[in-house]
Amino acid sequence: MRDDRVLDFDDESDGYGRQPWSTETPYANAPQRAEDEADAPRKKRDDDDPRDTPPPVIYGEEIDNPCNPVYVDGVPSANNCDPHRLDVSSTCTGTVTGFIFPGSRWDNRRGIGAAIEEINRSFAFFAQYCILLDLDQLTLNPRELRMLRAWYRDWYRRRLLPAVGGASHLGTTTIPTEVIDEYRGAMGDLQERATGLDVKLLVIFCDEYINNHRPSLGSSNRSDAHQIGITWIDRRSPYILAHELVHAFGKSAPDAPGDVTWDHKSACPRAITTIARTAGSRRPIDLSNRFLDIKEDVEIRNNRGGNLLECASGGCPAD
Ligand SMILES: [Zn+2]
Repeated sequence: MRDDRVLDFDDESDGYGRQPWSTETPYANAPQRAEDEADAPRKKRDDDDPRDTPPPVIYGEEIDNPCNPVYVDGVPSANNCDPHRLDVSSTCTGTVTGFIFPGSRWDNRRGIGAAIEEINRSFAFFAQYCILLDLDQLTLNPRELRMLRAWYRDWYRRRLLPAVGGASHLGTTTIPTEVIDEYRGAMGDLQERATGLDVKLLVIFCDEYINNHRPSLGSSNRSDAHQIGITWIDRRSPYILAHELVHAFGKSAPDAPGDVTWDHKSACPRAITTIARTAGSRRPIDLSNRFLDIKEDVEIRNNRGGNLLECASGGCPAD
């Protein structure tokens, strides 16, 4: 147990933990923050209308014809960037755990619906390659949710915004190290809590995210843990989760990033890992109609995210 923790989570799970994803999960229904620039004010709050929430669909075995492994080949250089089909050698399965950060703009029915859409399309992306994913969610107790929400609000208002000179400067100004470290410490504490509840890979849907190896705001993957942050700006970036999952599945251990899957090594424009925006960009990016690079697939099936994926030879059931 570290003694420099930012957040004090309960040691006992007291009945909470991993559960099937549900839109009935307690959420804090945070009011929109007027100072945040990313979203125009909404005319009317519709977050509590259950009719606008799509039912959760877990991709995997339910997909009619999941196996259509189409690749590009761009490592170390553009060998064949025309998408082409190659059979896979194994079927892999794994579980991804989602978490809606309390008080974030994902934390209402509309936001949860957007998260589920992104999860579904990203899981469908991997199902093409016979990597079948299931979803559950991290459920913390109400005290912990309140603590996280209060911590983030305080960090955002009292630390981040003054440090960069206001919300309009987010992504354009260097963030002081101590402000970054506070964020990373808190997310590290959350990760420890999740790991204690047997979570293998935690995907946090949050307003802002800073990982541990690149001091900028944006959706990303920690190099020292199986933790992904998907930011609110990227609600308009379809398949950003699939991109981040390539990073995670290519690791050989939670703290051991892969080679081609970590460093965006494919030279093909239609590789899922080829991303045109700069770190910290406040612009969404559309990763639709992208493919795995064959070298990324090889690394994923070799490294399997450490203990994240289980793979068995035999190819796709649909073959
Ligand atoms: Zn990336």
